[in-house]
Amino acid sequence: MHHDVLIVGAGHGGAQAAITLRQRGYAGSIAIVGAEPEPPYERPPLSKDYLSGAKPFERILIRPAAFWEGRGITVLPGRRVVAVDPAAHAVTTADGAVLGYGQLIWAAGGEARRLACAGGDLAGVHTVRTRADADRMRLELPAVEQVVVIGGGYVGLEAAAVLRAAGKRVVLLEQADRVLSRVAGTALSRFYEGEHRAQGVDIRLGARVEAILGDGRQATGVRLGDGTLIPAQMVVVGIGITPAVEPLLAAGAEGGDGVAVDAFCRTSLPDIRAIGDCAQHANAYAGGQRIRLESVQNANDMAITVAKALTGAAEPYHAVPWFWSNQYDLKLQTVGLSAGHDTAVLRGAPAARSFSIVYFRAGRVVALDCVNAIRDYTQGRALVEGGARCDPAVVADITVPLKDLAAAA
Ligand SMILES: Cc1cc2nc3c(=O)[nH]c(=O)nc-3n(C[C@H](O)[C@H](O)[C@H](O)COP(=O)(O)OP(=O)(O)OC[C@H]3O[C@@H](n4cnc5c(N)ncnc54)[C@H](O)[C@@H]3O)c2cc1C
Repeated sequence: MHHDVLIVGAGHGGAQAAITLRQRGYAGSIAIVGAEPEPPYERPPLSKDYLSGAKPFERILIRPAAFWEGRGITVLPGRRVVAVDPAAHAVTTADGAVLGYGQLIWAAGGEARRLACAGGDLAGVHTVRTRADADRMRLELPAVEQVVVIGGGYVGLEAAAVLRAAGKRVVLLEQADRVLSRVAGTALSRFYEGEHRAQGVDIRLGARVEAILGDGRQATGVRLGDGTLIPAQMVVVGIGITPAVEPLLAAGAEGGDGVAVDAFCRTSLPDIRAIGDCAQHANAYAGGQRIRLESVQNANDMAITVAKALTGAAEPYHAVPWFWSNQYDLKLQTVGLSAGHDTAVLRGAPAARSFSIVYFRAGRVVALDCVNAIRDYTQGRALVEGGARCDPAVVADITVPLKDLAAAA
């Protein structure tokens, strides 16, 4: 079977690439081959309102099931690509099928990292990456009283919030000395630690997990490096992902942590592009460093970059990174990348549960974290996009709208 465009991965990036190709009038054949059994669905609700049960699966589909057929897009779910042959322009799936392509778009995201310690594969130990993961957790939850969440990143914190709201006792273990250390400044970390503790989550920082304890089959608790034993009937592991790029690297693509792409999302192999969580690219908002971004924005915007390139309107990828996280009644919106900032300015009062943190590097605004502060988020975007130079003292003054600063910068 041959497709003019073959997309590997039926997630956010893969779906958006197919949608944008058709929107732009692409008339060739398009197929999306995906390892999961479902048609493309939204991943963020898996640790938010799908996990809580507030949203049924139908409401997290990226498009209704009939959409794909209606647009002439073939969706091949439940099929994992295990090999790529760039010379033959063909991929092989785990069930032995060979699919030919004119252009290949690799949008395979990543696999949730698993615990390497003893007991990491006991029943009751869960990662949160797929619908199946969330469904397994939901099925077990009625019999669970105490959960240990391992990892204080977005996924771990969001899961902790949902589990608390469901009435479970929750212990959250983070190996660093603060939560969200990879993505946010210290003040934001401290705010979220305080909020979770106020909600009754037992957060333990600097915690080293030594083993998951079990009765031979089912997890019964977690043992820490200092000997502490924490009983639990469920363990949720949110410790990041491993980019799903092995078949591409095995075929000779450049990369390491992900697959290397240029500004048009081209890999080093002919007619193969990569997008989304697995694409390692030089990002202007990270000072040109090669990074991977794990966000719906990045997956969608890279998909659009590729669709434009394949329809004769190539434009380099230059989208400003943004991200959101919902925990309890807190809506966090982030624009830009705060890593490497030298100054962080608070706008508003965390006690009022509506505030922003504006990050600067060498005098320029590089990112904002906005908590229940949508106006700052929408108005602050321009500051990040333009790398605005503003006076931190003025930024701290909440009576000055950020749009005035954007206009003046
Ligand atoms: C629980 C959770 C909450 C999140 N919350 C947010 C949020 O609030 N905001 C935000 O911006 N981002 C959030 N993210 C991140 C966001 O979901 C990802 O950045 C986004 O899904 C990346 O899209 P993608 O297309 O690169 O990969 P994915 O959406 O992961 O899709 C990749 C697909 O490819 C499939 N695949 C992998 N290997 C193969 C193969 N060899 N053959 C065939 N198919 C394959 C996978 O099974 C998967 O279905 C969250 C992620 C998780 C897990």
